[in-house]
Amino acid sequence: MALGSRLLALASALWLLPSALSAQQAAFDGARAYDHLRQVVSFGPRPAGSPAIERTREYIIGQMKALGIPVVQQGFEAKTPIGQVHMVNLIATIPGARKERVAITGHYDTKLFREFRFVGANDGGSSTAFLIEMARALKGRRSPFTIELIFFDGEEATLRDWGAGDHTYGSQYYVDNARKTGTLAGLKAMILVDMIGERSPRFLKEGRSTRWLTDEIWSAGQKLGYGSNFINEITPIEDDHVPFLDAGVPSTDIIDLDYPAWHTVNDTLDQTSARSLEIVGNTILSALGPIESRLTRTEPTAGQQPSTR
Ligand SMILES: [Zn+2]
Repeated sequence: MALGSRLLALASALWLLPSALSAQQAAFDGARAYDHLRQVVSFGPRPAGSPAIERTREYIIGQMKALGIPVVQQGFEAKTPIGQVHMVNLIATIPGARKERVAITGHYDTKLFREFRFVGANDGGSSTAFLIEMARALKGRRSPFTIELIFFDGEEATLRDWGAGDHTYGSQYYVDNARKTGTLAGLKAMILVDMIGERSPRFLKEGRSTRWLTDEIWSAGQKLGYGSNFINEITPIEDDHVPFLDAGVPSTDIIDLDYPAWHTVNDTLDQTSARSLEIVGNTILSALGPIESRLTRTEPTAGQQPSTR
């Protein structure tokens, strides 16, 4: 009788275990992410150095504060073809068992257009909204690595074209600063999202990205039934992950650049969907475990990292 009830207690404890563990990590809620997207788009065009990006920053910081997640404002003066521009990366940190970090990142600036009103719902908005909701989903998770959510400023070129050196100011600054302060080696992997809000996204694998990291994410997405969104084709795209790749940090980029409204007046809220944000959210949350196990298992030295790209 005693044994029986103990077994029963043990069985119910085991039964409870998986749900207790998964309760640590909240599900990614596309509707919540979309509310953030609606909010940031309502601030209007948000190019680096503008009053509207300042408001966006205040909004992000307010959301992190409400979640109890500390945010560091990494400000710097960028020398651009249109003059010196004050830019600020936002770094939100969710501590894990180790100090070494896995970064989930995106840009929150929108491209400057003087000739029309560019609100960048997908390009700039989707990554911003995504990271805010990702913070909520990961807040209670027991992670082996510390998670950094990085909101980059100054991804967009200040001039019309993506000219040499005139882009990815925030990500370049983050890498330079981490190198100077000796914290770059503690960054074990970097996942970038950009333009993920389109209604029917087709994410191709970015050509220069770290292969194993890309494959973990794409296979997680495909296992979740998002095979029409995570496609096994390769395309080269320059984005905020490049400074990290150049520095030897395993990095990947989830982006659908095949977007008819890209850099036009039509990149508005109606082109985007909560569902797309949720697809990417579910996929990254599902891929995180396998990525962490792999990082824990291999602990590759800095010298070995570039060869795994
Ligand atoms: Zn853009």
